[in-house]
Amino acid sequence: MKLLFLGSGGSMGIPVIGCNCEVCTSTSPYNKRLRPSVLITDGKKRYLIDIGPDYRTQALKYGIDTLDGLLITHTHYDHIAGLDELRIYTFRKKKPIHCLLSRETLEELKIRYHYFLPPHEADEVHATKLKFQILEGDQGETEFEGLPLTYFSYDQLGMKVNGYRFKTIAYVTDILDFKEDIFDSLKGINTLIISGRRWERSIAHLSLEDAMKFSKKIGAKKTYFTHISHEINHDETKKDLPEGFFLAYDGLELAL
Ligand SMILES: [Zn+2]
Ligand SMILES: [Zn+2]
Repeated sequence: MKLLFLGSGGSMGIPVIGCNCEVCTSTSPYNKRLRPSVLITDGKKRYLIDIGPDYRTQALKYGIDTLDGLLITHTHYDHIAGLDELRIYTFRKKKPIHCLLSRETLEELKIRYHYFLPPHEADEVHATKLKFQILEGDQGETEFEGLPLTYFSYDQLGMKVNGYRFKTIAYVTDILDFKEDIFDSLKGINTLIISGRRWERSIAHLSLEDAMKFSKKIGAKKTYFTHISHEINHDETKKDLPEGFFLAYDGLELAL
């Protein structure tokens, strides 16, 4: 099983439009960050977590010509704006893409994507088709298209967000407020992937320090920060991180 970072950037991506800061103008590939998303490969199966506005670029760059499932964390733009790009898979296979999400997320999607979701389903062939598997309750275990996983929930600015755990690795993006019982779902994790936008706490994200505290509480051996802003210069920040903490970057692949 492998996990590939298709994007490790924050909601605006790096470079930020019109920004002349040292990170946005950097020539280092580690400072170029597309919107956050990961691809999990398990044997021949490929699962995507989140589908942001850079999905087409990511799919072309990494040759993602088929998908076996899409897991959605929540419905902010940077995590779902690429949904329409799934149309080509529907078109080619004449089958819907299976999608795992919470009931709250589905209700939001119905508003944003009313033109291809029920009850206004568009033409069979010309629209993205999704088949939903709903996550019951706030946490639990399930199997999604052959992939066993644990799911849990937390909150970002009043929106429910789902995190996912696959055996000993967990993907926890866009976490701001959480209940203590989240740690029950994360016990025994080796590798934690968590959003860490910048050193300071921001309106929607934990600071890197808070994310480190979160990781230490779980006892994760390795922690990768993702959803990184242009306030983080990869090469400089890398040196300042304690042992066991890393910055993810676009194209980084972890063997699970
Ligand atoms: Zn986000
Ligand atoms: Zn910048």
